[in-house]
Amino acid sequence: MELKAAPVWEKVPPRLDRLVELAYNLWWSWHPEARVLFKMLDYPLWKETGHNPVKMLLAISPERLQAVARDPAFLKQYDAVVMSFETEMANGHLWFPMRYPGLMHYPIAYFSAEFGIHQSLPIYSGGLGILSGDHSKEASDLGLPFVGVGFMYPQGYFRQRIPPHGWQEAIYEQINPAEVPVRPITGPDGEPLVISVQMDDHPVYVEVWRVQVGRVNLYLMDTDIEQNAPWDRELSARLYGGDQEMRIKQEIILGIGGVRVLRALEIHPAAWHLNEGHSAFLVLERIRELVQAGLSFEEAADQVRATTIFTTHTPVPAGHDVFPFHLMEKYFWHYWGEMGLDRDRFMALGAYDQGWGVGFNMTALALRYSGWRNGVSRLHGEVSRRMWQPVWPELERAEDVPITSITNGVHLPTWVAGAMDRLYDRYLGSDWLEHHDDPLFWERVQEIPDEALWEVHLYLKRKLMAFIRERARRKRIRGEMNPEQVLAAGTFLDPEALTIGFARRFATYKRATLIFHDIERLKRILNDPYRPVQIIFAGKAHPADDPGKHLIQYIYNLTKDPSFGGRIAFLEDYDMHMAHYLVQGVDVWLNNPRPPREASGTSGMKASINGVPNLSILDGWWAEGYNGANGWAFGRNREHESPEAQDAADAQALYRVLEEEVVPLFYQRDADGVPRAWIRVMKEAIRSTMPIFSTRRMVKEYTERMYVPAIRNAIALREAAERVLTVPPG
Ligand SMILES: *Cc1c(COP(=O)(O)O)cnc(C)c1O
Repeated sequence: MELKAAPVWEKVPPRLDRLVELAYNLWWSWHPEARVLFKMLDYPLWKETGHNPVKMLLAISPERLQAVARDPAFLKQYDAVVMSFETEMANGHLWFPMRYPGLMHYPIAYFSAEFGIHQSLPIYSGGLGILSGDHSKEASDLGLPFVGVGFMYPQGYFRQRIPPHGWQEAIYEQINPAEVPVRPITGPDGEPLVISVQMDDHPVYVEVWRVQVGRVNLYLMDTDIEQNAPWDRELSARLYGGDQEMRIKQEIILGIGGVRVLRALEIHPAAWHLNEGHSAFLVLERIRELVQAGLSFEEAADQVRATTIFTTHTPVPAGHDVFPFHLMEKYFWHYWGEMGLDRDRFMALGAYDQGWGVGFNMTALALRYSGWRNGVSRLHGEVSRRMWQPVWPELERAEDVPITSITNGVHLPTWVAGAMDRLYDRYLGSDWLEHHDDPLFWERVQEIPDEALWEVHLYLKRKLMAFIRERARRKRIRGEMNPEQVLAAGTFLDPEALTIGFARRFATYKRATLIFHDIERLKRILNDPYRPVQIIFAGKAHPADDPGKHLIQYIYNLTKDPSFGGRIAFLEDYDMHMAHYLVQGVDVWLNNPRPPREASGTSGMKASINGVPNLSILDGWWAEGYNGANGWAFGRNREHESPEAQDAADAQALYRVLEEEVVPLFYQRDADGVPRAWIRVMKEAIRSTMPIFSTRRMVKEYTERMYVPAIRNAIALREAAERVLTVPPG
């Protein structure tokens, strides 16, 4: 397949002819030397474009390009980056091809409704998307034959603005595809490749964009094209926008359209991974294909199961899509016949009693037609087995429910601060990244001198404070903030004070306001003249989630309350970029969801690998990550009479840990002003999380436990099919 002609790049001098390719491959985003290259190209423009090399190349003047093409320092950097890019793309000694040399031609297709690769491509909303992005990057680093399938949302996810009254506003900005690292896919005739999906009584047409993530391609579907009616063009406009009917249509495109895109691209996946239930209709499409090829429904379903992996991501009931049967009927009446089913048998595929009624449940569908099923932490695996036991009515014990767990991780090159990376280079060796999933290797964290680690941490903390002030200054200059908002944005924060970070989606179960349970006690903690404490909040509420928006408003109003002395800040518009500053620059990372609602959580892992210890309730990953010495835990999974009683008990526990452990330890300094005991916790955080809670460990685990067995099944099925074709009957 050829790519449609990109914008005109004639202004790029021949000496720099690989620059365009580097800009279009998000590989640059996790390779420091490539980021340095784009900074050298034009630093003001780099900042102005929000670190977006494609937009930079469009805007940069030909004179500037000519100038750097003659600059020896730039050329040296350029040649080094091109060399390391080529070496990695050539796939010499990566893990997967070394370990499974025979399996490189059996693609693994990974379906996800969102991909968070970099903030310049805003097609993610939160944890799920960033996990997909991190998974894709790691698949590239390990050399997996991996393709992603998702959506191009022309309006992306929203940007958050907090006006003076604190009620979050959502701003949707149209993404200009020419300015982001996506390129349209064209067919053999040079025209855009278009596939179609029948939607009720008419077809919807889908075009496809390609995003390069190192060695991995992502294919993003887009319905905003001329052939479609205006309302169908809106289908892929926004992430998680619209009502249930919009949602079923989006999921039909993701699951069914996604399979058709791969077929049109002549990509033949051997293993199919459904990242969350949004894409579960793909099992229907694959069964339909096989039934059309002559198999019975049961044979087809067995084959699909043998090659399908499903990951569930939340124990929160509202997080699972359920469609009423009348909607299913409206969109699938023409479809079930092609699967060899009648209406009732078709509806039974996803039928599930939620407790408030029976509907077509996407998670139940995915669980029934996947051969491998997992939750995303050990605890979430357990919770999921209990939660979904009714899918296996014949099983009496929850322990026997066939849902396992693979704990999430974070992509280290994406989330380790540049300054920490250099520290690890210096004390652990410049090849530390290659050993990073070896627990023994991290025993060596003790070799990093306390002073060196502390100095880097203080540098990252100052960077965070400077980032906060700079943003406020720019918004103030543009007339977007009144003085009170400038204060709320954290400009009074003290670089010396113990700084707590809390940033995540504002879903109510995350209990962002728990720490305000006893306001007077909190004020005493924050305003201690000798040992001051401050808290930085950030996060978006889903545009339809009014209770979530109320929590933001509540906190926002407190940031303006003089009695808190400017020690609480709310940063608007949390995204990946801000997340980097926060998880790398605060002293401690707070997390207090209502257990057991947090399936895993990943921001705490990002903090921990940067030496920022967690102060977290024992839920999600922390239930297995906490070891008594690498941070603090509270709120053991006890039963409570009511949610209010639980909030009260958890808040008391949180205050106690803060007052008796966290604050005293942070302020306990030696003669040089270095908090030795605190640094012990920092080092233990690094030692214990690095090798385990990284996508390296996670993707290897998916590969060994699920992808490879699925691929072997696919190979056996293909061979069996060929034997049927070549052996004459009788
Ligand atoms: C990591 C991250 C998340 C997910 O954090 P959780 O701890 O899982 O809630 C959400 N949003 C952004 C921008 C992130 O970087």
